Amino acid sequence: MPQTTRRDFLLCWFPFFRRRSRTLAGIRFETLRRGRSSRRYLLIHGDEHTARQLLVSHMKAGPGLAHLVTGRERLVTVGGARIDPNRLFSRTGAERSLRRLNPDMAPERLYQILDRLDRERPGLVRALLPPRGGLLVALHNNSGGYSVRDEIPLSDETALNDPSHPHDFMLATGPEDFARLARSPFNTVLQHRRPEFDDGSLSRLCARLRVRYVNIEAALGALPKQAAMLSWLTQHLP
Ligand SMILES: [Zn+2]
Repeated sequence: MPQTTRRDFLLCWFPFFRRRSRTLAGIRFETLRRGRSSRRYLLIHGDEHTARQLLVSHMKAGPGLAHLVTGRERLVTVGGARIDPNRLFSRTGAERSLRRLNPDMAPERLYQILDRLDRERPGLVRALLPPRGGLLVALHNNSGGYSVRDEIPLSDETALNDPSHPHDFMLATGPEDFARLARSPFNTVLQHRRPEFDDGSLSRLCARLRVRYVNIEAALGALPKQAAMLSWLTQHLP
């Protein structure tokens, strides 16, 4: 059966759009599942509402499993302390984020939270990561300084196909995915060996585990642009 027909057939037979919620490492997520697919999606910063809007609408049309943080703020609270949810994928990154955001926290409290994250991180990672060979797509928005220019010196390879829009770019951890995305009209960088510095982000973890991961980053509010990037990826990556 041709691939598209097979996909339509499966969608027809698995038309379910199941919404559930679950708590992982102290963070509340809504999960959206449609059909059977190794494709995984993630919204981890609650205030990135363009990415949230895009992901919810994308899940109405295609197969996959999406996790969306339910809070509407960038930071989450774990054990009473503030932390950036995209910095807790390693103990080192979590410690740096906790110290920066909770400067007055007692050391015993800090280590209690770090120990808790060590215990609960494997469950979080298991839930978010795709099955072997599958792809995890994370959606992010930026509003201001951050752009592809910050990632260029940290990257193994770059394809600056849209240099006049540096805030819109994709970051891949797989060389084969990068090679395909580099043929798109969008800025793309590859980070699979670099950077060596572990900031506790999910891209660093995926690079280390050799998991296929693509971050689609776009300016907050740039919904048509971010949708075009996601659509290109959906059509061109296995
Ligand atoms: Zn983000």
